[in-house]
Amino acid sequence: MWSFVSTWYFSKQAAQAGKAVLESGGDAMDAVIKGINRVESDPEVESVGKGGFLNENGELALDAAVMDGNTMKTGAVCAVRGFENPINIARAVMENTKHNILIGAGAESFARNMGIKESDMESLITDHARDVLKKAEEKGHDTIGAIALDSFGKMAVGTSTSGANMKLMGRVGDSPLIGSGFYVESGVGGAAATGLGEDIMRTCCSFRCVEFMRMGLTPKEAVEKTVILAHETIIRHGGKPDCIALICMNAKGEYAAAANHKGFTYAFADENTPPQVTEVTPIIDKDEDGPLFDGVAGYER
Ligand code: ASP
Repeated sequence: MWSFVSTWYFSKQAAQAGKAVLESGGDAMDAVIKGINRVESDPEVESVGKGGFLNENGELALDAAVMDGNTMKTGAVCAVRGFENPINIARAVMENTKHNILIGAGAESFARNMGIKESDMESLITDHARDVLKKAEEKGHDTIGAIALDSFGKMAVGTSTSGANMKLMGRVGDSPLIGSGFYVESGVGGAAATGLGEDIMRTCCSFRCVEFMRMGLTPKEAVEKTVILAHETIIRHGGKPDCIALICMNAKGEYAAAANHKGFTYAFADENTPPQVTEVTPIIDKDEDGPLFDGVAGYER
């Protein structure tokens, strides 16, 4: 039994790559990395890896992370420049250092020492990314998050993103932060987030979603409660939530997704389902008045 789920329509190619690894008895982390690498190296995807959104200085500075659900080890990199596949550096941080997160110049120098493929910075920037940057008012951000369960019961998660268009130099989103952008524990479940990192990180969405599954909720219940709780908590404390979306999977390989906005899509594949994309009906809509949180044991208002 194996299963793979990933954020956004552009990750169908990730589900295809993940399937190839998992159906031949491969490892969940390999499936996550192979899947995310495809999206990072696709210049048509405007928010991940090569061709991603630029920061205010016109630089491509990427965030990525991985977590192994068997060992609970994690590796992440933030604001890395000159590398097309930051997820490979994140994996090397997890496997070859005592640390969880490396940032900026330190992450780049570590990557060079590990022999990870480096690219000329300009070669990773597309004309489209330059155009989007010029239209400074245009919002843009999306992340590939991918969760895999392999046939040995191991679960793994990874994320990779260029973060928000026009972000300040040095800005870090939720995607490389454990518990916010991603979380996984084999035997329980995994989650990954996409949307405005500032909102996702202050509501610790991915950890919460996995904890809801640990409490016995189905993936659908867990992910919907997580999005509603995050959305409503921000409102209750005087804020206005931006986009918050998550995917999750339990230890049985069942997956679900939820969002507080229209247009969120995700890809999935498992033993009985070829790679495909589906669109999520918002459980609550940030642009409309919606229902409030209806309570989960320990989380009532
Ligand atoms: N969460 C990412 C960030 O804030 C962007 C996204 O997934 O939309 O960096």
